[in-house]
Amino acid sequence: ASPARADYLADLNPSQREAVEHGVGEGGRPGGPLLVIAGAGSGKTNTLAHRVAHLVLKGADPQRIMLLTFSRRAAAEMERRVGRVLQKVLALGTSHPPTLPWTGTFHGIGARLLREHGDRIGLAEDFTIHDRGDSEDLMGIVRHELGLSSTESRFPLKSTCLAIYSRVVNGCQPLDQVLRAAFPWCAAWEAQLKRLFGAYVAAKQAQHLLDYDDLLLYWEGMLRDPALAAELGARFDHVLVDEYQDTNRLQAAILLGMKPDGSGLTVVGDDAQSIYSFRAATVRNILDFPGQFPKPARVVTLERNYRSTQPILDASNAVIGESAERYAKELWTDRESSRRPALVTVSDEAGQARWVADNVLRNREEGLTLKSQAVLFRSASHSAPLELELARRNIPFVKYGGLKFLEASHIKDVLSVLRWAQNPRGRLAGFRVAQLVPGIGPATAGRLLDAMAACPRPLSALLEFVPPSAARSEWAGLAEAYRTLCENARWPADVELAVRWYLPHLERLHDDAAARRADLDQLARIAAGYGSREQFLAELTLDPPDATSAESGVPLRDEDYLILSTIHSAKGQEWKAVYVLNVVDGCIPSDMSTGTAAEIEEERRLLYVAMTRARDRLHLIVPQRFYVHQQTGLGDRHVYAARSRFLTDRIATLFDRLPTPPQQAATPAPHPAAPRVDVAALLRNLWK
Ligand code: ATP
Ligand code: MG
Repeated sequence: ASPARADYLADLNPSQREAVEHGVGEGGRPGGPLLVIAGAGSGKTNTLAHRVAHLVLKGADPQRIMLLTFSRRAAAEMERRVGRVLQKVLALGTSHPPTLPWTGTFHGIGARLLREHGDRIGLAEDFTIHDRGDSEDLMGIVRHELGLSSTESRFPLKSTCLAIYSRVVNGCQPLDQVLRAAFPWCAAWEAQLKRLFGAYVAAKQAQHLLDYDDLLLYWEGMLRDPALAAELGARFDHVLVDEYQDTNRLQAAILLGMKPDGSGLTVVGDDAQSIYSFRAATVRNILDFPGQFPKPARVVTLERNYRSTQPILDASNAVIGESAERYAKELWTDRESSRRPALVTVSDEAGQARWVADNVLRNREEGLTLKSQAVLFRSASHSAPLELELARRNIPFVKYGGLKFLEASHIKDVLSVLRWAQNPRGRLAGFRVAQLVPGIGPATAGRLLDAMAACPRPLSALLEFVPPSAARSEWAGLAEAYRTLCENARWPADVELAVRWYLPHLERLHDDAAARRADLDQLARIAAGYGSREQFLAELTLDPPDATSAESGVPLRDEDYLILSTIHSAKGQEWKAVYVLNVVDGCIPSDMSTGTAAEIEEERRLLYVAMTRARDRLHLIVPQRFYVHQQTGLGDRHVYAARSRFLTDRIATLFDRLPTPPQQAATPAPHPAAPRVDVAALLRNLWK
């Protein structure tokens, strides 16, 4: 080996190196299955990236490596890390390291494989992928058609129905078990739910639609065909998975179907960071992995943490150490520091927002860029007061998780035009577009689509269905644009065409058309980064980029920005300074998740994930008062909050305690927030 080659392995500790080199034969040929199970920040992802680079350097064909990550962001990061190692070793100069075309999420890779081979199991070639919102809408339509939606019947909401359906599919579990375990309040509806799900599946098939769950389900379906399974399995020499603790049974079945003997299969994960059981992920996957092959898998554990300082690690270890069921892992680091993590008490959420903004700026003065700092929270809505505060102070930020760009109605309108042209049978897209024409309501749109489903044809041939009261010339305009999109598709010019057609409607429908217009320009820029309409629609549906973020490939005007993220979306990442909001009982653990001991354990792991994102500075913030939304419809009420139960008195001794800064110390904001008067609560007190 050349000195450079030796170098990249010398960066690793002996256990990491063992994992990187395990079973790599001549020409990068695959060996037996490998599991790396290790705590946060121990270099699992880094080891996986080195392993892939190592395989390529040993001669494995990058086209035959499948690398599965949890999100598209994680996939991009993984490619970057692999590229960096290869660049270093191969001394490529200006040329680029080889790309890894099969790096992505289970859902993204599934979509591609189904496009290529789905016809072999009877899947229509022109299928469209429904995102969660679309799937919920379809579930709602079917529910309505079956007469299950009347308010007095108290039948579960469409979102609940979809969640139940999804649990059944992803968990490979019968409906009655899912209901009993996770949705006991819906158990009385079992028979109706069965009927509903049957009709939902039929509707998807009739309209050539796949929802997210179908991408996994049909992939697994392909693997049930022995010939196709052999073909797909043989196409990839190596299949590697990061964050394996958050995969579900269906995903485990897919891996086993791809590699029944485990050859070339590598999974890495941390049972202490399993936080997606509400999506049917099960930590059993990682625990059962070694024993499921003819020859047991090699198991490598990593114990050295490279991310956090010792005081941060001590506090994180203490939190997870209280957990009932976990594989004991002792993490150590040589990153000594005199700076302990801080437990910060503030008066309320407004005070919390001010404290975080002050500190972010102070850290910046001390040389930490905004990008090296992140604010994490349990649910997307928790960041609202902070977002306002940051906007007021002109501190740029990007938010991961929560309401996305693509959920805005004007973006959905334009995407629907493209989707409908892609799949003329797609009912939701057509339904949405037809109703943009003035004078066309749901009933007319329904008739138009029925006619279209019976026999796809140019829209101009549907004029007889458009009532005279509707703007027939507008219909003609739509028909013309649609014809061009169907017959003369050009990418990315299609997006401009759709936007041009849509603009008059945008002006008519929205007061803030100018701002929305800017979003559409943004959409066109994002589209230009994709090779085809099909690819664009598939990937956008699967994992929408944040509109304002650099990861969409659109450079931000301001290069430095603070990261705001849900804890779930922060998985696998790290920052120099981390702030965790609302570390109070009711938020962490969430009031919605304190039903069972297992749910509480998952909330503890969530706090552990949040804390272990920090490299140098960690702040857990405890507002003494916060507002909770009342299910009763009486509006919000505030409650006096207690510190999260996961921070026991003993654990709290591992933190510096920061008192509330005096109110007047903060520079007065130009527009002080109006005091929030809780009228409903006042009234209730009077009535008592
Ligand atoms: P998580 O459980 O949070 O996903 P992880 O186990 O995947 O964490 P990585 O993100 O791979 O951990 O690594 C954590 C940090 O440690 C990264 O900054 C990485 O560059 C660094 N690191 C990993 N291994 C080494 C090493 N051998 N030498 C120096 N730094 C390392
Ligand atoms: Mg990782």
